[in-house]
Order: sequence, then structure tokens, then C-alpha cells
Amino acid sequence: MEDRLGALLHVLRANGVRITVPRRAIVESLVANGPHVTAEELAALVRARHPEVHESTVYRTLDRLSTLGVVDHVHLGHGRAVYHVPGDAHQHLHCDACGAVVEAPDELFAGLVAAVDERYGFELDLDHFALGGRCRTCREAGVPAGTGHRRRSGRRSAHQPSEPGAPLNGPTTSGVTQPP
Ligand SMILES: [Zn+2]
Ligand SMILES: [Zn+2]
Ligand SMILES: [Zn+2]
Repeated sequence: MEDRLGALLHVLRANGVRITVPRRAIVESLVANGPHVTAEELAALVRARHPEVHESTVYRTLDRLSTLGVVDHVHLGHGRAVYHVPGDAHQHLHCDACGAVVEAPDELFAGLVAAVDERYGFELDLDHFALGGRCRTCREAGVPAGTGHRRRSGRRSAHQPSEPGAPLNGPTTSGVTQPP
């Protein structure tokens, strides 16, 4: 683990990036707590050890580290983005029922990527979004297939369906959603 951390910090220095407390803490947290934590979880982890680091600094730092390619994010299900260190090439299988993430090696998808390229000239980017489905545990437990509207966190997603009580034919707003 120290090696991994050292290698990442080396990349930063090689890019002329100063190793500040928040930068180091973010990289440390990602390496130590395993991949796939949300920005909010990461901010909490960093602030548990460095209360002086402001949340907004964590988010800004995440952006900077993303630009440098030291960390990366992937969207799970309905827009929930998690951060990871993209060292070992892997794709993400996300269970829409329980939220589990299964890492699958890149080469498993090589045939699909090649076939899509050959037939459509389309370069598939599988890194940015997880592939959705049902994990083994949920299948064995008989959890029905679906698109995972059961969310693990209480946060609203961009794909939130309209409220049950909301008028379907309310005042005509031509489909424009008013900001809250
Ligand atoms: Zn990952
Ligand atoms: Zn599951
Ligand atoms: Zn994204």
C-alpha cells in the first residue's frame, strides 16, 4: 500500500504539483479505504483526520487530481459517482438492487469493444459508467430485475421521477423544470 501511495505522490511531483495536506490526505484515503467512495464519503474521511481541511477544498482537490489522471470517477446506477485510483484496469458491474460493485478485468470486454469498433467504427468507453444488472446474491435471493429505484442514500438523483402527488397536466411549462 505504501508503494501505491508513493507511486501516486511521485506522479503528482513529476507533474509539478505540490503535495499539500488535502492532496496527500485524499490520495491516502483512496488507497487506504479501497476504491469506490463518493466525494462526500471522501470528504468525511479526510476531515476525520484533518478537520482543518474544508469540504470545498476536498472537492476542488478531487477535480485537480482527476485532471491529472491520478484519480478517476465512475457513475454507478442513477448518477452516483464514486472515485477510485485507476491503476489496475477494471470495469465495474453495479447491482441495481443492492448497490454492490463487482470489479471485472478489462480483457473480459475486449471482444465486445473490438466487435463494436469493427461493425460501427464506434470506440466504446466502458470506464465512465458501470454496467448495471443484478449480482449473484440478489439473483439467488430472488430479487426481481429492475432499474434500481431503491437508492441507498437519501439524496435525490437527476433521474428522480416526478412526485406521486404532482399534477401531470399542471400549468404548461413546456417541460422546463423550475429550479428549486
Ligand atoms: Zn474502480
Ligand atoms: Zn445485489
Ligand atoms: Zn462523470
